[in-house]
Amino acid sequence: MEKFEKKIIKDNVLTEVYCNKCGKLIYNEETNSKVDYINITKEWGYFSNKDMQVHSFDLCEKCYDSLIATFKHEPTKIKK
Ligand SMILES: [Zn+2]
Repeated sequence: MEKFEKKIIKDNVLTEVYCNKCGKLIYNEETNSKVDYINITKEWGYFSNKDMQVHSFDLCEKCYDSLIATFKHEPTKIKK
């Protein structure tokens, strides 16, 4: 259960995004911050223990970097 809303949406406009891991404000519509972040959304299926649930979270770049540093295999990276 979330203790706070990590996303605040007003009139269908995303106004604020907070990092789920560190809690830092990573996007604010009013300041039009240019900080990038990652969103992961997963609709769990029948063969999971979370069937019919959709999980979603956002991470700031620093928390993303610290998370992938724990991976045995690096994420796939494609240069654009
Ligand atoms: Zn963070």
